[in-house]
Amino acid sequence: MAEVSAETIRSALSRVTDPRTGQDVISAGMISGLVVKGSNVGFVVEVPAAVGQQGEPLRRACEEAVARLPGVTSVSAILTAEAPAGSRQAPRGGHDHGHAGHQHAPRPAGQPTVGQKPGVPGIASIIAVASGKGGVGKSTTAVNLALGLKALGLKVGLLDADIYGPSVPRLLGLSGRPETTDGKKLKPMVGWGLPCMSMGFLVPEDTPMIWRGPMVVSALDQMLREVEWGTLDVLVVDLPPGTGDAQLTMAQRVPLAGAVIVSTPQDIALLDARKGLNMFRKVDVPVFGIVENMSYFCCPNCGHRSEIFAHGGARRTAEELGCDFLGEVPLDIAIRETSDGGAPIVASQPDGAHAQAYRAIAEAVRAKIDAGRGVRQGPRIVID
Ligand code: ADP
Repeated sequence: MAEVSAETIRSALSRVTDPRTGQDVISAGMISGLVVKGSNVGFVVEVPAAVGQQGEPLRRACEEAVARLPGVTSVSAILTAEAPAGSRQAPRGGHDHGHAGHQHAPRPAGQPTVGQKPGVPGIASIIAVASGKGGVGKSTTAVNLALGLKALGLKVGLLDADIYGPSVPRLLGLSGRPETTDGKKLKPMVGWGLPCMSMGFLVPEDTPMIWRGPMVVSALDQMLREVEWGTLDVLVVDLPPGTGDAQLTMAQRVPLAGAVIVSTPQDIALLDARKGLNMFRKVDVPVFGIVENMSYFCCPNCGHRSEIFAHGGARRTAEELGCDFLGEVPLDIAIRETSDGGAPIVASQPDGAHAQAYRAIAEAVRAKIDAGRGVRQGPRIVID
């Protein structure tokens, strides 16, 4: 089927009226950043600052109007509230804490760049770590993968995009607030030699995060582009768990070179990993492969290995789905303790078997990144 035209989309949107003004959204100039990519459509619905989140029903109406068009399989409409000139609103749900990071809190309005995915100067590749649901060890994998890539000699940064439940500060044992040199950009925090940024550094832990989708996206944009990342070979982005709209929009907004899906053997059976895979396919982001976490259990006393969750499902699922299997990490108390104690195992026990497993995953990921950039792999030298 031919790609739906921008004209058809505009014509559909011209039948959506803003109940506040009685004007249709096209004549009112409220639609911008229209992008059509195959059967996927993205655009921005701009509402005045005073309307803010009350514009949500209108955004939905616009999305539904376009979704009904033949040849459209997905629509992502982003609501932005136009900030009054010179102001920078903090979209937090709680009260003002007045801390140093306050003026850097993300704003709800911004330059819409939906679908355009401009690169981030200085960062060669951005990769996402995702999971079908929470608690599978996605953040633990993201942190150890980032440290594994660093151990391979790459310059690596880590962006915690889990706005609602940031865990990177805890996993890297970091606290405090990022500084700024010029009042505009934040300096990343550094843990175990890894520059990182997380919402956890910007808002106190007890702040309720009741942000809506567009605000989350704008927070992500700022953590990506208004942080002095310097020159990086790879920025690892720890995405929020799940495959809902927020994750989809994020995957769409960030210029991702590829994604790594973390899954436990049980989720493989429950199809959660497949949902993750489909989400990235929808937004044309290559899936580098699946990592099976908590793959088997290592007894801390005798080292006995128990396959408590029908280990190996990820490898089979990866094969079935035509994507790669990147490696497996056992369920081991040492991983939990180091992770929750702020001393990730790849950095704190670099000579152990677990660090080796993460480095092997990092090597597989690096090969994927290089392949995507057209870098030819040199011959592998094996010394017996
Ligand atoms: P997610 O980001 O998917 O929510 P986390 O990385 O926060 O998951 O991990 C959830 C919990 O499981 C944490 O307490 C973490 O220390 C623990 N954990 C993660 N991976 C492993 C593992 N391979 N072995 C033991 N514990 C793990």
